[in-house]
Parts: sequence; structure tokens; C-alpha cells
Amino acid sequence: MKPGKTNKPPAPELRRAVDELLEYDFGSDLVRYLRATGYEYVSGDIQLRLAAEFGFCYGVDRAVEYAFAARYRFPDRRIYLTGEIIHNPRVNRRLAEMGFRFLPAGDAGEARYRDLAAGDVVVIPAFGADAREMAYLLDRGFEIVDTTCGSVLNVWKRVRLYAEREFTSVIHGKHDHEETIATCSQVTAARPDGAYLVVRDLHEAEALAEMIAEADFSAFSDLFPAARASRRFEPERDLERIGLANQTTMLESESRTIQAVLKSATARRYGDEDLNDHFLAFDTICSATEDRQKAVDDLIAGGVDRMIVIGGFNSSNTGHLLEISLGRVSAYHIESAECLLDRERIRAKPENGEPEIMKGWLPAGPQVVGITGGASTPDSVVGRVISRVLELGGGTPPSRETIRATLEGI
Ligand code: SF4
Repeated sequence: MKPGKTNKPPAPELRRAVDELLEYDFGSDLVRYLRATGYEYVSGDIQLRLAAEFGFCYGVDRAVEYAFAARYRFPDRRIYLTGEIIHNPRVNRRLAEMGFRFLPAGDAGEARYRDLAAGDVVVIPAFGADAREMAYLLDRGFEIVDTTCGSVLNVWKRVRLYAEREFTSVIHGKHDHEETIATCSQVTAARPDGAYLVVRDLHEAEALAEMIAEADFSAFSDLFPAARASRRFEPERDLERIGLANQTTMLESESRTIQAVLKSATARRYGDEDLNDHFLAFDTICSATEDRQKAVDDLIAGGVDRMIVIGGFNSSNTGHLLEISLGRVSAYHIESAECLLDRERIRAKPENGEPEIMKGWLPAGPQVVGITGGASTPDSVVGRVISRVLELGGGTPPSRETIRATLEGI
């Protein structure tokens, strides 16, 4: 078979086999039951409420399906991933068990590729890959299975357009996240002297807006270290014409506000008549991210005493589900059921901190517990967390017979 790049779905028979395996590995009858019966369940002290949208998004579903299918298509070949396919330890462990290998972390360079040999297959994760890395892998004739999500490709299309029109891409994201690294690389792939700047949050955007409006960039380098911007970035020159983009998993409301703040600052500086020559923006918020964030908002508005947010500790979108919850109710970001040590202690990750043991997470007496999971959290993990919460609250999940009878009736 001639090597190349594929981003096409597997053939129907292979797809059926893969989907069965995925259901076995990552599905949960309990979660399916709860979805089918109104997202609520009461037992013991616990009144459980599930967010209306949680767990694997369409991009993650597709990435994991393509990776599993690659194992079937190339049973005798070594398969590498350029990084975690998604940010969930359960999924990455499963891929490692299936023989997937990971390229060593680090910048695109010979050290990262030294283990690759002719005939190897390389899977690109849902976040995409650095454009230079992709060019290197294609050049050397490796078989590429590209699972880059369509919503990420949509962002890339925008930043490439900005670069071609000599606008600087201002990207709301985390500069060291794989997706944002890949998005920045698209700017310079489209135009070698293309410029970009990564803005982490509204606070930074407001400071940047003030600099643009006042044309005073004296504080720029204090706020934006070199790693956040393209090489030889000159704020006076490179912030004259800006186009907005975002990492797809950022807080949706914050991305929209940042866009509005920078648009207004640009209008203050250049006037409304000339705004289109200096400011561009497209909606590149991923709908799956938006739906999951809105579902948490709605769940809390409906009344919960505490929230459990499930997802990899390095998962950006899960972190934002926690951020939405905190300040409104007690909320805990956990990776799996093993984090629920007992009714008193929970191993959870605070916002912007390292995982730690927290106390008093599930007080005695009746409790309404809201549950959600990030876009990279399998239902199997959510299901085990639900069972554990019920157990700690002195309750039990529905019996296997009840679940089976309900699911058969659907
Ligand atoms: S969160 Fe959005 S952009 Fe990211 S993989 Fe899922 S659907 Fe794609």
C-alpha cells in the first residue's frame, strides 16, 4: 500500500467492529440508562443530576474511532501518536495497551523522530499537529492517520486567511497547549513572516486593549513574554491589524467578551469607519464546547449542592467546566472514581493548582450532586463515578435487570 495521509472514516465493516470495541471499552449501560430516563436518579442520601451534555464530543469520538481502526488496518506495523490523542488517562492507557507508542515530547526536531522507521504509521490527535511536524512526516513517507477535528481546522482556516491578508492573529488560548501550538504554526505556514499573539484570559485582553487604544506599548513585554508571540513581534507594527481566533476549548463567554473588548479598542484607535481595515473576527467557538458549558450553567441554575466535574487533570475543557461551577457551588475536578476516597476525602484539582486531597466534600444528610464530564471523558469513567457517589451516599445504582429492561425497551 502506498503511504500517504488519510482523514477518511474507516470502511463500514471495520467501523462496525471498531464501534463495538469502543462501546465495550468506553461505554456505560448505567449512563445510557440515565440519559434515557431523564438525567436524574435518587438513592440513599443522593439526588443525582447529570448535565444535559457531557462526555465525548464529536471530535473526540472520531479521533478515538480512527485510532482504533488504524490498529485493525495496520495490525503488523508500529503505530505512533504525536502526543496524547485526547487528554484522558483512561483512553491513553488503553491505546498503550493496544501497542500504540508515543513520540517523545519536545519540539519538532530529529530527537523527537529518532525512533521512527520506514513503514511506521503516525496518528495525529484531535488537536492537530504543528505544521512543520506534519510536513516532516509527510516528506519522509510515513503513513499518516489524521484525526484533527473539523472545528480545529476551521480555526486554522481563519488564521491562515488573517496571515494572507497581513493581519496578526490574536488567539485566545494557552500558548503551551498542543492545539494552540498547532494553530500558531498555521500562521507561519501560510506566511513565513506572519504574526500571532496568544492571550490567555480577559484580564490580559483588557490590558492589551488599553495598549491598542492608547498606542502605548511600553508594558507589552512585561505582560507577553516572547513565547506568547511570533518571532520578532513588534507591538506597534503587529497590532495595527488584528484578527481574532481561539483555542476551541476555552471558556466560550470569555472568548466572545475578549473579541468585543479588542474590537472596541481598535475602533477607539482607528475610528468606526476604518475598523474593517484593522479588525477581523469570525465565530470559531466549537459547538460541543459551548453545549457542555451551557449544560453546566443550566444544571447549577436548576439547583445542586455540589458539582463533580470529571476529566483528565490536563484537560483544558474540563478545567473550564470547573471554572463555570466554582463560585456558585462547591465543585471538584476529579479524574476517576478512585479520586472519591470516602465521604470525607476527595482527590481533586483546584482551578490553576495541582491535585490535592480535599476534605468535607460530601456532608452528611441529603445532597443534590450535579455531575458532568469533559469532552474527552468516556462514559465508562462517568458511570463508575456515579456508582461510587451513590455508594458513598448510602444508595445503590439501578439493578442490572432494570437497566437491561429499560434499554431493551428503547
Ligand atoms: S472540543 Fe470541539 S474542537 Fe475539540 S475535539 Fe471536541 S468537537 Fe473538536
